Amino acid sequence: MATPVHPPHTASATAGGREAATLRGFFGVFRYSRRALELVWSTNRALTVALALLTLIAGILPACVAVIGALIVDAVVGAMRAGGLTTRVVELVVLEGALVASIAAAQRGLSLCQSLLRAQLGQRVNVMILEKALTLELQHFEDSEFYDKLTRARREASTRPLSLVTRTFGLVQNAISLVSYGVLLARFSPWAVAVLLLAGLPAFVAEAKFSGDAFRLFRWRSPETRMQIYLETVIAREDHAKEVMLYGLGPRLLERYRDIFRRLYREDRQLTVRRDVWGFALGLIATAALYGAYAWIAVTTARRLISLGQMTMYVALFRQGQAAVSAMLAAVGGMYEDNLYLSTLYEYLETSVPRPSGTALRGPHPEDGVRFEDVSFTYPGAEEAALEHVTLHLRPGASLALVGENGSGKTTLIKLLTRLYAPTAGRILLDGQDLAEWAEKALRGRIGVIFQDFARYQMLVGENVGAGDDRYFEDESRWRAAAAKGQASEFIETLPSGYRTQLGKWFRDGRELSGGQWQKIALSRAFMRTRADILVLDEPTAAMDAQAEAEVFEHFRQLARERITILISHRFSTVRMADQIVVLNRGRIVERGTHEELMRLNGRYAHLFTLQARGYR
Ligand code: ADP
Repeated sequence: MATPVHPPHTASATAGGREAATLRGFFGVFRYSRRALELVWSTNRALTVALALLTLIAGILPACVAVIGALIVDAVVGAMRAGGLTTRVVELVVLEGALVASIAAAQRGLSLCQSLLRAQLGQRVNVMILEKALTLELQHFEDSEFYDKLTRARREASTRPLSLVTRTFGLVQNAISLVSYGVLLARFSPWAVAVLLLAGLPAFVAEAKFSGDAFRLFRWRSPETRMQIYLETVIAREDHAKEVMLYGLGPRLLERYRDIFRRLYREDRQLTVRRDVWGFALGLIATAALYGAYAWIAVTTARRLISLGQMTMYVALFRQGQAAVSAMLAAVGGMYEDNLYLSTLYEYLETSVPRPSGTALRGPHPEDGVRFEDVSFTYPGAEEAALEHVTLHLRPGASLALVGENGSGKTTLIKLLTRLYAPTAGRILLDGQDLAEWAEKALRGRIGVIFQDFARYQMLVGENVGAGDDRYFEDESRWRAAAAKGQASEFIETLPSGYRTQLGKWFRDGRELSGGQWQKIALSRAFMRTRADILVLDEPTAAMDAQAEAEVFEHFRQLARERITILISHRFSTVRMADQIVVLNRGRIVERGTHEELMRLNGRYAHLFTLQARGYR
């Protein structure tokens, strides 16, 4: 559910409508308070209880201190008049000292509980965000609006639940103090209590409004923030460093980075200045109220209607009461803000992910293999179809090569076969069963794929191979067997720690491999999937020389006799070895057959083949 987001200064609502909306939004957002509390409670009950008790103690003690203070002054005055009796004064002072020490202890305890909870809760929320990420579909990651959500959630949301709870407790603590002050102060005059409460109200309304503005600004600019994060990555990460250096892109990228900051800063400054100017102006009202009350209490004392001790107490109560009111108002403003930020977290966590409902573990006709029946597909948001009316049949043991220019739809076909996307029209069958009806795990277990942009994990060599089968991620004997099939064992043996060599440059003692070596690792990874009977190579051998690629593919076919192999390659020396060659052009199959048949046809394939063969003559 995406709400339209406008920058505050272009919001088109009328002023009155906006105020109403602000109010409605203001109360609406408190809906996350309960969830935040539940989150904190379920993260650590003991700490939450401790937090609540300490809050209570820290709320009550200050009023006790004020009462003792009054008793001290009056005891001193009494002692001065009557002489003697100083022990009572000393006792009271000691008692006040003890109370103040208790307040300090309670406050320490509070901050201790908060620190511990903050660590646990931060981790918990981050794990929730990552767990959700694991359930997402590929198309979420390719959707910029969704990426904004994810970024917002990751940037801010992990610290907000605790902040919300801390503020709620802070609110309660100050409310307890305030009630106790109010009870004492009401003995002087109920009007004093009213003045105390009302003087803080304007500042509160302003605070709530500015919190809302700040949040809208934050939301509205997440694409820019994301661009900044991206620029940071490009400038400061090893995989981009080569190009950035050689093309001298650094200063330009940095300038863009600065530009974004300058733009954001201008808006921030405006908001901050407005917030503080208003805060100051409205704060003056509170100061005026305090000194008005001060004068009132002083005059009352001068008229001997109350004692000197009472005067000290009432002034202290009023002053502290005012501090409590403004702390409460700040807490409510902050809670409002936390709620807004939490809404981004829950918006992300509640993104509905349509779960494929399939449960089939096998199909009715295992001998049938893979079938594409009049399959068409258009990427979400795209205008043109990436695949149109594709019909294909691959029996077990068959090998297929896909040929076509860049962008002709080869990879898309693989994405459909692996169910990363569902066809827009037509259907794909495996063993006579619609892909949509297959249980996710059973389907994924059947297919081994290496994409052109396969992952290069900054982990051990062995783990890079083991990644091919989660069950044997750490099984060294299987790593070895798979690496032998992927023709990677030879160079792995020469690495300093063999299969236990760290790869990549991010971590200590990491080794970087050549492109071809990485591809051999990726091939070995595919061979880890001993149960997979459909193997797909999407140009993973492009960095090898033509001879090595042909050998790899031949080897691949040998090892995969009963399996279906699908190969995408621009090298015709390899392609010609496949039983069936399919030529794609702009999402449609334009030619199909064996190498000989297609050569005889003398069409597109024959043309491309001759073109490449000429290069080798
Ligand atoms: P090939 O693998 O043959 O080079 P692809 O299957 O990757 O081609 O792409 C086919 C078409 O689909 C291209 O026009 C490409 O721009 C488009 N396309 C590829 N991936 C996406 C995507 N994630 N979102 C939108 N369009 C895409």
